Amino acid sequence: MTKTKYIAILGAGESGVGAAILAKQQGYSVFVSDFGKIKEKYKTELEQEGIEWEEGKHSQERILSAPEIIKSPGIPEKVQIVQSALEKGIPVISEIEFAGRYTKAKLIGITGSNGKTTTTLLTYHILKKAGLNVGIAGNVGDSFAKQVTTQDFEFYVLELSSFQLDGLVDFKVDVSVLLNITPDHLDRYQYKFENYVNSKFRITNNQTKEDFFIYCKDDEAIVKALSDKNIKAKQLPFSIKEEVSEGAFLNKKEEIVFNHINQQQPQTMSIHDLALNGKHNIYNSMAAGIASKVLDLRKEIVRESLSDFQNVEHRLEHICYVNGIEFINDSKATNVNAVWYALESINKPIVWIAGGVDKGNDYEELIPLVKDKVKALVCLGVDNSRLVEAFGDVVDVYETSSAKDAVKLSYKLGSKGDLVLLSPACASFDLFDNYEERGLEFRKAVREL
Ligand code: ADP
Repeated sequence: MTKTKYIAILGAGESGVGAAILAKQQGYSVFVSDFGKIKEKYKTELEQEGIEWEEGKHSQERILSAPEIIKSPGIPEKVQIVQSALEKGIPVISEIEFAGRYTKAKLIGITGSNGKTTTTLLTYHILKKAGLNVGIAGNVGDSFAKQVTTQDFEFYVLELSSFQLDGLVDFKVDVSVLLNITPDHLDRYQYKFENYVNSKFRITNNQTKEDFFIYCKDDEAIVKALSDKNIKAKQLPFSIKEEVSEGAFLNKKEEIVFNHINQQQPQTMSIHDLALNGKHNIYNSMAAGIASKVLDLRKEIVRESLSDFQNVEHRLEHICYVNGIEFINDSKATNVNAVWYALESINKPIVWIAGGVDKGNDYEELIPLVKDKVKALVCLGVDNSRLVEAFGDVVDVYETSSAKDAVKLSYKLGSKGDLVLLSPACASFDLFDNYEERGLEFRKAVREL
């Protein structure tokens, strides 16, 4: 008689439950443990599959008797149960690593500090339009593991955060995309930027010369780290500053040139035909375009898809005009770099709404743009002291503590031809459940003006 394999799973959210279902299907005996409260939806899924679970605790002995543990990306490595597992030499892997063992699909993995979701959705849109049998997973939609259990996709576009990349061992993507690296989540990386950079580069782990690595050549942190890495995959850079011989660049006519990718003839496309506006989206469009050209998709499809893509909510989302004042919801801008691109892309006087939970932000790089474009800063947060400190001498700063008040005040401060931008640079959980709720309340308040 063969002994049943046993696996323990830490965290019962989308990825943990997905991993549990896949493991069960693969004949494992599975135990899921969550230190917090498990959502009803996930409890039901576990019950339906007959998978054992616990909440509000981690039963040490039961978990540490597993030969392998799957950890959800939200759980930091420093927590005691993970440390104990590592001390005992038990491999702690991610749901992505586990699911990767059970699929033969071609994988496109996308990471970066900003732009992951946009670029993942954009790439998925192109592949789908080209008629490929493609799924989307990672940080978006159903977990990768669950889809590996229930679907039969030939391609996956995966959004991979650094936390997901940290749990990878043998996993490999066929096409990796690294959009940018700017400081974020440093609390999970011993406050060392270098550790965070290394985490992002794990997207290239195990890649061979048959694979592709698409990256931003204008990003200093990437280029600096690249010289120390032994990347085996074919490198396809993109840049809006300089010409690249294989990859994508911006020419003097404001066209993206997809240059000699997979020995194809160059393809050009005006940036004015792109569905997504702003410099950051030129990068995102270049990255998605290269990824699809690597798969030899027809150039008409690539062009059409890059111009008819519908952007996702809360990312520089145009809401409406009220008496000539435009309102934009960029609630997903939870770090300084995302705000930089938002301010950079707007060419109207801005009333800027920002604030929330400050993650140790360095606002210095925003000062020239704020001086140049922002006519007033409306803080939306419980503690606005860091914003007041950073911008008090640069613009008029006001404080509010609800989306409604922030919108009303911004409307009053604005005049015809101005733009009110919610782009917080901060996390949302002082006043809201998450960035989506913040964006929805903003939108509602605008509609009620
Ligand atoms: P992520 O999934 O990495 O958080 P999103 O696509 O959700 O990225 O976008 C998050 C925020 O970053 C939004 O405010 C968006 O406008 C901004 N953003 C998108 N792409 C980029 C980029 N390439 N560089 C900088 N900021 C970006």
